[in-house]
Amino acid sequence: MSHDCDVLIVGAGIGGLAAALALQRAGCKVRVFEQSPELGEVGAGLSVSPNGALGLQALGVIDAFRAKAYAPEYQCVRHFATGRILAHVPRGDRLTKEYGDRYYVIHRADLHAVLAGAVRANDATAIVTDHRASDLVQDDSRVSVRFENGNTAEGKLLIAADGVRSRMRNVLFGAEEVRFTGYVAWRGLVPIERVPGDALDPPSQVWIGPGHMINRYPVAGGKLLNFVAFAERSGWEEEGWNIPAKVSELNAEFAGWHPHVTTIVENVPEDKLFKWALCARSALMRWVKGRAALLGDAAHPLLPYLGQGAVMAIEDAVLLGRAVAAAEDMSRALARYEAARVGRARLVVEQSTLMVARFHSSDPDSFRHDVPVDESLGLFAYDPGTVPV
Ligand SMILES: Cc1cc2nc3c(=O)[nH]c(=O)nc-3n(C[C@H](O)[C@H](O)[C@H](O)COP(=O)(O)OP(=O)(O)OC[C@H]3O[C@@H](n4cnc5c(N)ncnc54)[C@H](O)[C@@H]3O)c2cc1C
Repeated sequence: MSHDCDVLIVGAGIGGLAAALALQRAGCKVRVFEQSPELGEVGAGLSVSPNGALGLQALGVIDAFRAKAYAPEYQCVRHFATGRILAHVPRGDRLTKEYGDRYYVIHRADLHAVLAGAVRANDATAIVTDHRASDLVQDDSRVSVRFENGNTAEGKLLIAADGVRSRMRNVLFGAEEVRFTGYVAWRGLVPIERVPGDALDPPSQVWIGPGHMINRYPVAGGKLLNFVAFAERSGWEEEGWNIPAKVSELNAEFAGWHPHVTTIVENVPEDKLFKWALCARSALMRWVKGRAALLGDAAHPLLPYLGQGAVMAIEDAVLLGRAVAAAEDMSRALARYEAARVGRARLVVEQSTLMVARFHSSDPDSFRHDVPVDESLGLFAYDPGTVPV
């Protein structure tokens, strides 16, 4: 496509920034509008499996990413009470040989900063903060977004990357309740010197037990141990990613678990402990309406049990950029993007939901993981830089 294309992106999360970079690389002028007053340090660890790393290769940021990420040799899955190793999951160089890159974990803020830095290096004014989108209108040639602060912006294409509670999705496809799934997550960052040495062998471990799971690995160059702990709950009222949590509350959830879990939970500084509700909406079969398209959690929110939330947003972004570069016009580009991504995202959403029973198991001793489930599903064998679009 010839590139007098100017694109508006709503949401500067992982998906919005990856899309901005992909579209800049396709020759577009991009403006990303973020509701927060600043691009923040919010979040905790995210996994980036080989398919996500290949996406970051395609976006030209893999070196900056690797400099901040931790690449485990293997992960182990352990029994919540006895600590018995239930599975040994190789994550090292074998993956590079087979798929072209490794498995990484990284603090969300670090990945976010890598993407934002690359977008700004292309165009210092591309990211606009303090702009919460409230509405959009479009005709045959333009799309215009209205913000709560009274400003408007106009472009040829709009990408809605405004997360699981996407307002743009409501405007485009009709309002739909965001549903609480019955799962709550806590994230915490523990200074590594507070973690007993034998609890770090290996550094990356997943512990599973009845109705609960905890996944923990080093981030921030090995200075912090990140954990994400999950539990089942019947109700939830608070909204947001940054709800402060109490150590005592988390202790109570994991009472009776192995000391390598309870010590970590007890040692998290309370100002580094947050909780959020895992929420869902239906995975839409259509992501495009006119000159607007959904991307990331706005299109296909998923449970984090396969560690694919950020990765799917990166894959979407790379395929969007490639579709725009390859197609003759915008509507063909969006059609190609949608056709390339809807089925893949649906598979990952469904499989992520199926994983809950496995990882919240009331009978962890029956856990079988001879071939890691994410790998056996073929998730890693998808190179967003080369799959057809
Ligand atoms: C603050 C925050 C912390 C997170 N922490 C974790 C974590 O610790 N672990 C984990 O697994 N996942 C976390 N996630 C979710 C994870 O980043 C996403 O599931 C995944 O990366 C997909 O990204 P996304 O870009 O589609 O959505 P998101 O990362 O949710 O990004 C959406 C962005 O859109 C912005 N936005 C929303 N509405 C509007 C609007 N109307 N106008 C303008 N901007 C808007 C939001 O502020 C946000 O920056 C977090 C998300 C956020 C926003």
